[in-house]
Amino acid sequence: MPNAEVLATGTELLSGDLVDTNSARIARALQSLSIPLVQITVVGDDLPRMVAAIRAAMARSEILIISGGLGPTVDDVTREAVAEALGRPLIFDPELFESIRARFQAFGFPMPENNRRQAFRPQGSRVIPNPIGTAPGFLIEEGDRILFALPGVPRELERMLTESVIPYLERRFPPAEAMVWRVVRTIGMGESFIDERLRDLLEGENPRVGLNAHPGMVDIRIQARGATREEAAARAEAAVQTIRERLRWAVYGEGTCTPEEALIAVLRERGLTLATLERGTLGLLGGRLAAADPEGQVFRIGEVRSRRVAAPEHAAEAIRRQAGTAVGLAAEVLPEGENFQITVAMAASEGSRTLQRGHRGPLPHAAEWAANAAMGLLWRWLQEAP
Ligand code: ATP
Repeated sequence: MPNAEVLATGTELLSGDLVDTNSARIARALQSLSIPLVQITVVGDDLPRMVAAIRAAMARSEILIISGGLGPTVDDVTREAVAEALGRPLIFDPELFESIRARFQAFGFPMPENNRRQAFRPQGSRVIPNPIGTAPGFLIEEGDRILFALPGVPRELERMLTESVIPYLERRFPPAEAMVWRVVRTIGMGESFIDERLRDLLEGENPRVGLNAHPGMVDIRIQARGATREEAAARAEAAVQTIRERLRWAVYGEGTCTPEEALIAVLRERGLTLATLERGTLGLLGGRLAAADPEGQVFRIGEVRSRRVAAPEHAAEAIRRQAGTAVGLAAEVLPEGENFQITVAMAASEGSRTLQRGHRGPLPHAAEWAANAAMGLLWRWLQEAP
């Protein structure tokens, strides 16, 4: 397998104003292709430093992926830097120019003169189309080396990676072995508890299993390898089954599923309706549930209060009665000195549950924890209720 490097460009990355998420995204893409990423370099918008970084990377590694610096302004120097590093002149591409101009026309305003810069690309390069922005990317094959230049805007980079770069690399470097990824999502069960129950899996090599904690939730990532895709998939599936058996109620879904989507789906399936009342939670609980149930079939009322009316245990029952729903859910974040006290409660005609805990950390984090804890409480009840 060839080695790969990433070169992230942009002065904001060096000032601490911007976190380099593009390199992380590219790293994940390369990992899914089993291509070893051996170095990530960050450079400001500085032509000589970029030229040196490109030359060094191309001397060490077969693949170089550059992000950023393809915009229309003078501080966007990726084109010039690549041209100089590889000793290729920049050429004007009339077709590219037309497509950039057409894009502006479609938005209904004339193309600024600056954007003409984006129609230049190093001689011998190929355009990587950018379906959602003006900055096109390009790739250059030089002997056994390949250089990709992608725009810095994460959404555009994502599209171009999945639609062009990954398929290209897959064709050119078919992986020696297949790899399959799965993610099992859990809510309401502590990380150390999960760690204990999955210890043997977490120490294994194939599949490789890892935990990723979020406020009140833990994702379990599984990466399985095999001689064929089927073999890798079977390994991953066996691990998923073991995790589901051991963690039972805590598993709410897989892949990109969110707890609110999982909750709404189960409530809908059982013909149950829901109302929420919250305070000090930045409206996260009701807001997220409403987004997951835009037609309001299941989620009927979400109240956000600024003052305490009743303790959450009572509030859950009160909102349930007021809304006439099957279930009521309440969440509260109360400041306590520098910390917070979080209380969540649910009420149904069959009974009620409450959970309380202190929280250190900023309010947005406490609010997220409270919303997730409330959803986790209801999720667990739904799994355990007869
Ligand atoms: P544009 O034509 O939009 O200017 P560009 O290729 O010139 O595209 P940059 O100017 O380098 O891209 O970056 C555009 C924006 O994308 C930055 O302001 C920043 O918000 C985001 N961005 C750039 N690089 C990164 C990165 N490595 N990680 C996360 N976000 C980034």
